[in-house]
Amino acid sequence: MPETILVVEDEPSLQETLAYNLKKDGYVVEAVGDGRSALETARRLKPDLIILDLMLPEMDGFEVARILRREMTTAIIMLTARDDEIDRVVGLEVGADDYLTKPFSMRELLARVKAQLRRERLIREDMSRTAESMPAHETLKFGNLIVNLTRREVTFHGQPKQLKPKEYELLLFFAEHRGQMLSREFILERVWGWDFIGDSRTVDVHVRWLRQKIETDSSNPTRIVTVRGGGYRFEG
Ligand code: CA
Repeated sequence: MPETILVVEDEPSLQETLAYNLKKDGYVVEAVGDGRSALETARRLKPDLIILDLMLPEMDGFEVARILRREMTTAIIMLTARDDEIDRVVGLEVGADDYLTKPFSMRELLARVKAQLRRERLIREDMSRTAESMPAHETLKFGNLIVNLTRREVTFHGQPKQLKPKEYELLLFFAEHRGQMLSREFILERVWGWDFIGDSRTVDVHVRWLRQKIETDSSNPTRIVTVRGGGYRFEG
C-alpha cells in the first residue's frame, strides 16, 4: 500500500512542487496551506509522514507540531527558512524527526522522506513482533478486580462490569501509576488530552462512576483514594 504524506506549505509554488515530486515517487499526497487545515487533515488522513512548514498563516508550524505530537506518533519533517530556528525545531518543544532549511533541493527532500518512512516501518515491524510475543490474554489483577487488556473487559468479584471508554482509560491510567499521587490536572491532561474543553470536575465525576463499579463500598473507597491537596492515588 502506498504511503500517505501530508504537505503543509503556504507558498503555492513550493506546495505544488512538493506534491508533484512526492506523487511522482509513488506516495499518496494531500497538501494544505495553513495550520488549521493541517490539523484537520492530519486527524482525518492519519498520514505516515507530515512535511510541515514553520511559517504558516492562522497557526504556525510550532503550534501545529505541538498539538499533533500529543495526538499521534506520525513522523514530522519541518521546513524552516531560518537557521536560528533549528534548536527549537529539533528540541523538546517540537521534537521534529527531521528538518530542512530553505532553500533545499527536491532530491534532498525525497531522500529524507524515504529515510524517515523506512525508519517508521522498522519501528512498526518491531512493535508487531513485540505484540506477537505477548500472551494472548494479557490481564492485570488487583485482588478481586481483573482487567483483561486484550478484550478490554473488567470483572469485579467475578462479575463483568460495563465501563464507558473513558472510565476504562482512566482505570488503565491509574493502574499504570499505581501508588502515585496523581493531580486532577495531570489526569485530565493525560486521559482527556490538553485541548479538552472542560475542567478537573470531569475527573471527579469519572472517578465517582469508576468507584461505583470497582469499589466494595464506593463511599469509603480503598482502591482509588482521594489525596488531600488535590488528587487521587490508585492503591491497586
Ligand atoms: Ca511559509
